[in-house]
Amino acid sequence: MDTRLQKLIFENPAVFKVSKGEETLWLNPLKEPFELIRDELSVTKEQIRDASERLDRFAPFIEEAFPETKESDGIIESPLREIENMKELLSQKFSIEIAGRLLLKMDSDLPIAGSVKARGGIYEVLHYTEKLALENGIITEDDNYRELVNHKDFFNKYAIHVGSTGNLGLSIGIMSAVIGYRVTVHMSREAKQWKKDKLRSYGVNVIEYDGDFTEAVHQGRALSDTDPMSYFVDDENSINLFMGYAVAAERLERQLEEMDITIDEEHPLFVYLPCGVGGAPGGITFGLKHIFGDNVHCFFVEPTNCPSMLLGMASELHNDVSVYDIGLSGITHADGLAVGRPSKLVGKLMEKLLSGVFTIDDYRLYDFLRDLDKSEGIFIEPSACAAFKGVLGLEEYLDGRAYVEDNELTELMDNAVHIAWATGGALVPSKERGEFMETYL
Ligand SMILES: *Cc1c(COP(=O)(O)O)cnc(C)c1O
Repeated sequence: MDTRLQKLIFENPAVFKVSKGEETLWLNPLKEPFELIRDELSVTKEQIRDASERLDRFAPFIEEAFPETKESDGIIESPLREIENMKELLSQKFSIEIAGRLLLKMDSDLPIAGSVKARGGIYEVLHYTEKLALENGIITEDDNYRELVNHKDFFNKYAIHVGSTGNLGLSIGIMSAVIGYRVTVHMSREAKQWKKDKLRSYGVNVIEYDGDFTEAVHQGRALSDTDPMSYFVDDENSINLFMGYAVAAERLERQLEEMDITIDEEHPLFVYLPCGVGGAPGGITFGLKHIFGDNVHCFFVEPTNCPSMLLGMASELHNDVSVYDIGLSGITHADGLAVGRPSKLVGKLMEKLLSGVFTIDDYRLYDFLRDLDKSEGIFIEPSACAAFKGVLGLEEYLDGRAYVEDNELTELMDNAVHIAWATGGALVPSKERGEFMETYL
């Protein structure tokens, strides 16, 4: 280990702690009141609006190409559900009081891709598709985009490449193949066999690597660069992916209104988001801050063996440091979170917005998976279960309680709304579900 890293580990208590691979809560010391920084953010609310309107334009196409979205008129959205029984179960099991209400944002059930990646991944493919179609006179902005289902031959001239640990590949692969692109997914070592099989059934070219996500991205980009007709989806640096995720916030706002749930100075909102490279939780956080400002408190959750965003933000080194650099393996059962080097784009954008990051041991993912199944009859995948660490975490840690006090929330916690963001699950085959239910680490 070089001296820069040794210094980093021994002089930064947060980094020292994560380097031991222990569960922890890191509070972000650089967080600022939202009003003070709103105008200095490099991404604006107008950009979120723009993304949202683009998704609306594509709704007729989505509805036509994916009949499962008929009911929602081609809008890809997931339920928000109160999980009172899970709250009871967790309170009893851990002998703590979870004040306020507990909701589950079920991106596990998002149509088409069955994970949060149906937001960012699909949006990015649509963004590119619109650009190509407009530039080549296939459609105008005033046309009904349903028309695009008839232009597979046109899109087949173009290629799309993406690196993935599994779910991003599923989302980009399925959408791209249905539009007509030649699509190649570069899968890292974590990717589950059934995800590769599913993609191949859509005619997607799947290339498998023994290396990690960073490696798969690197190889994918190199291959994409050899083809002038190819577009590379860059999960580490894509502003489009980020905007697709950010749209989740205005949708959530509407769902909360429909449930008669108010978020304001008296009613704080806590959101717990499983984090890999950072795009999904970062984009969602960004959107939420623009709507709820200081009344929303966003926390990421990462595996103890792969806390890349925590490391990048706490050290302020972002993508200049990886979990391997501090002696961690990066290997985790949370395949969707197995990213050893964080996105710099997201880390910088989160610098003054994010409340903190929790880490969770792998064995607990399966405990939460069983708890949710038992109490609510809901299945979500192990990566998504990381969110529940956050639900317990504020009470579990002294720093968590200090956060509540320092933000003058103590008296308000009975009014609090906690949202565990369930980031994936619907497409997991029943055989794998059975195996997860029986997994004890
Ligand atoms: C990708 C993914 C995440 C995290 O998203 P990032 O953009 O990689 O941070 C969380 N949960 C699941 C199930 C995922 O597939």
